[in-house]
Amino acid sequence: MSELKARLAVIDYETCKPKKCSYECISVCPVNKTGRAVAIEADMARRGKPVIYEDACIGCGLCVKACPFDAIFIVNLPRELEEEAVHRYGVNGFKLYRLPVPKEGKVVGLLGKNGTGKTTALRILAGEVKPNLGVVEGEEPGWDEVLRRFRGSELHLYFKRLLNKELRVAHKIQYVELVPRRVKGRVKDLLARADEKGVALDLAREVGLDKVFDRDVRQLSGGELQKLLIVATLSKDANVYVFDEPSSYLDVRERIRMAKLISRTASPGRYVLVVEHDLAVLDYLSDVVHIIYGEPGVYGIVSKPYATKAGINRFLEGYLPAENIRLRKEPIKFRKHVEGEAPQQVAGSQKPPRPVAGWTRLLVKLDGFTLEAEEGTAYQGEVIGIAGPNGIGKTTFVKTLAGVLKPVEGSVYAYGELTVSYKPQYISPESLPDTTVFELLRAVNPESVAPGSWLYLELVKKLRLDRLFDRRVRTLSGGELQKVAVAAALSKEADIYLLDEPSAYLDVEERVSIARVIRRLIEVRESTAFVVEHDLMLLDYVSDRIILVTGEPGVRGHVNTPQPVWRGMNALLMELGVTVRKDDETGRPRINKEGSYLDRMQKARRLYYAA
Ligand code: ADP
Ligand code: ADP
Ligand code: SF4
Ligand code: SF4
Repeated sequence: MSELKARLAVIDYETCKPKKCSYECISVCPVNKTGRAVAIEADMARRGKPVIYEDACIGCGLCVKACPFDAIFIVNLPRELEEEAVHRYGVNGFKLYRLPVPKEGKVVGLLGKNGTGKTTALRILAGEVKPNLGVVEGEEPGWDEVLRRFRGSELHLYFKRLLNKELRVAHKIQYVELVPRRVKGRVKDLLARADEKGVALDLAREVGLDKVFDRDVRQLSGGELQKLLIVATLSKDANVYVFDEPSSYLDVRERIRMAKLISRTASPGRYVLVVEHDLAVLDYLSDVVHIIYGEPGVYGIVSKPYATKAGINRFLEGYLPAENIRLRKEPIKFRKHVEGEAPQQVAGSQKPPRPVAGWTRLLVKLDGFTLEAEEGTAYQGEVIGIAGPNGIGKTTFVKTLAGVLKPVEGSVYAYGELTVSYKPQYISPESLPDTTVFELLRAVNPESVAPGSWLYLELVKKLRLDRLFDRRVRTLSGGELQKVAVAAALSKEADIYLLDEPSAYLDVEERVSIARVIRRLIEVRESTAFVVEHDLMLLDYVSDRIILVTGEPGVRGHVNTPQPVWRGMNALLMELGVTVRKDDETGRPRINKEGSYLDRMQKARRLYYAA
């Protein structure tokens, strides 16, 4: 069999620390021990970090086990796949195989774990990275060779047109928070500069950006930055539109509006590519999807194109039949919430629920903002999903429960003083201490970094944060930072947790795993979590009950009483004027197209969230 396999040796040079180890990787290598060949050696050009020669390495994996920092990955892949290598980031770097195929007039969606090459694939198709076909030594292949590689496929024509400058690309980058560092000025002026089609101001009004026209880009919230970038991208006179995670920081209404705008862009002569982890959004806007699978940071393989429904369902089931690939051991399943279920379903607990806090009708007044809350109770061990737009008073409400803000009318009942632990929606690396992940978590709660402790096992291990311990917080990717911020908030002992959009920048698997971690910790701690979530699938998944907050952002908010999940979801969707059906195979929520038969039928029955 070994002849049929090609060896891939990848070293994570961020976690490899030759000064803190004794080169265990090199000393265990059986090839080196023979004295006839060298498979791994220290590379002075890489400040003493090792290099592995894939031709000489026999793939025994001893170095993988010996490295105290888990910095080495050895994978054996089918040899034929080598002919489909598209790009590699240097010797012993990440390798991408195959590419998604852009389709004229269609939206092509891309779905997969973080670190498997989605952004790399987008950047190649956007013409920002020249593919090296996996050749990282000697001379890089020229465009002729790249074109030859894709001969006979639609990609050949696409690259030819890209090279001939017949294609102009507009690219919405993933990390919107980087923008204020790179561009300066007021929203109005930035839009005017991007506006090649004379549509920017209309689009900006359509997404509600007109309220911040005169604001400096540095003062924008995450959601406003996201909308600014989407509008700027759509205003470019291009024929390739690329969107890397367009839904982060947007509320549900904004997500649906954005999905409509992006779908509208796909017209004859235009290509649209989208990476998105909110499955309801991806489902709504894509015509076909490719799934990227592989090992994060090591390699990624792009699947064949699937019809959207089938692709997302196969992804959730964890098996791609056409390529005979298992993506994970277990399928991702959904809980079924139905109309009329018991109003109080505390996470897994058999005990009668005990209140953490109760409140009468409340009225809270801030400078220019008024919040009214219906009476309600929050119970121990309960996760309450909060649905509502940004700036509607969700944080204000939870702060009032905790006694940080005083209502002008009504009162909150609790056993003693309530403590709150808070994860804000928008985490900028600059706002965090310039320490390592280990130091940051230890400062919050030393138990969280003590191997063997309950918190370490339930939080740090489950979110795989131990791998990040030595990394400096400011060098983390958006998804890594999100997990660290959620873990830090959950490490604190508190009565109430407020987690604002814990899913931003996480992939689907990580979203599900963070939802499970939240539920488990809240249950054991016997506290309450309020989780603000704009991903419909996750809101349903994480919540025991739902609070809907309505009103006018920045002016007034109305907090409804907590409701059972089905009723809360139905009320949210009714408020948005959007109907959702459940997928017959997986139970995942699917947004009906406006005016479709199901949409009309469900609206007539006031069944906005069909079971
Ligand atoms: P995704 O978008 O799926 O999260 P990316 O395409 O951003 O994945 O990255 C895939 C892998 O490639 C990551 O593990 C990352 O470490 C590596 N990588 C990305 N960009 C570079 C680069 N410029 N140089 C070296 N490695 C990179
Ligand atoms: P959400 O959590 O739903 O995004 P917030 O509760 O943070 O909303 O804010 C609701 C509104 O109240 C916003 O317009 C915000 O600017 C305003 N606000 C928040 N805190 C204060 C304060 N201390 N003084 C005056 N206005 C505030
Ligand atoms: Fe040390 Fe591991 Fe790096 Fe080898 S790969 S030098 S064992 S840290
Ligand atoms: Fe040496 Fe085995 Fe590591 Fe290859 S996998 S470098 S042969 S120890």
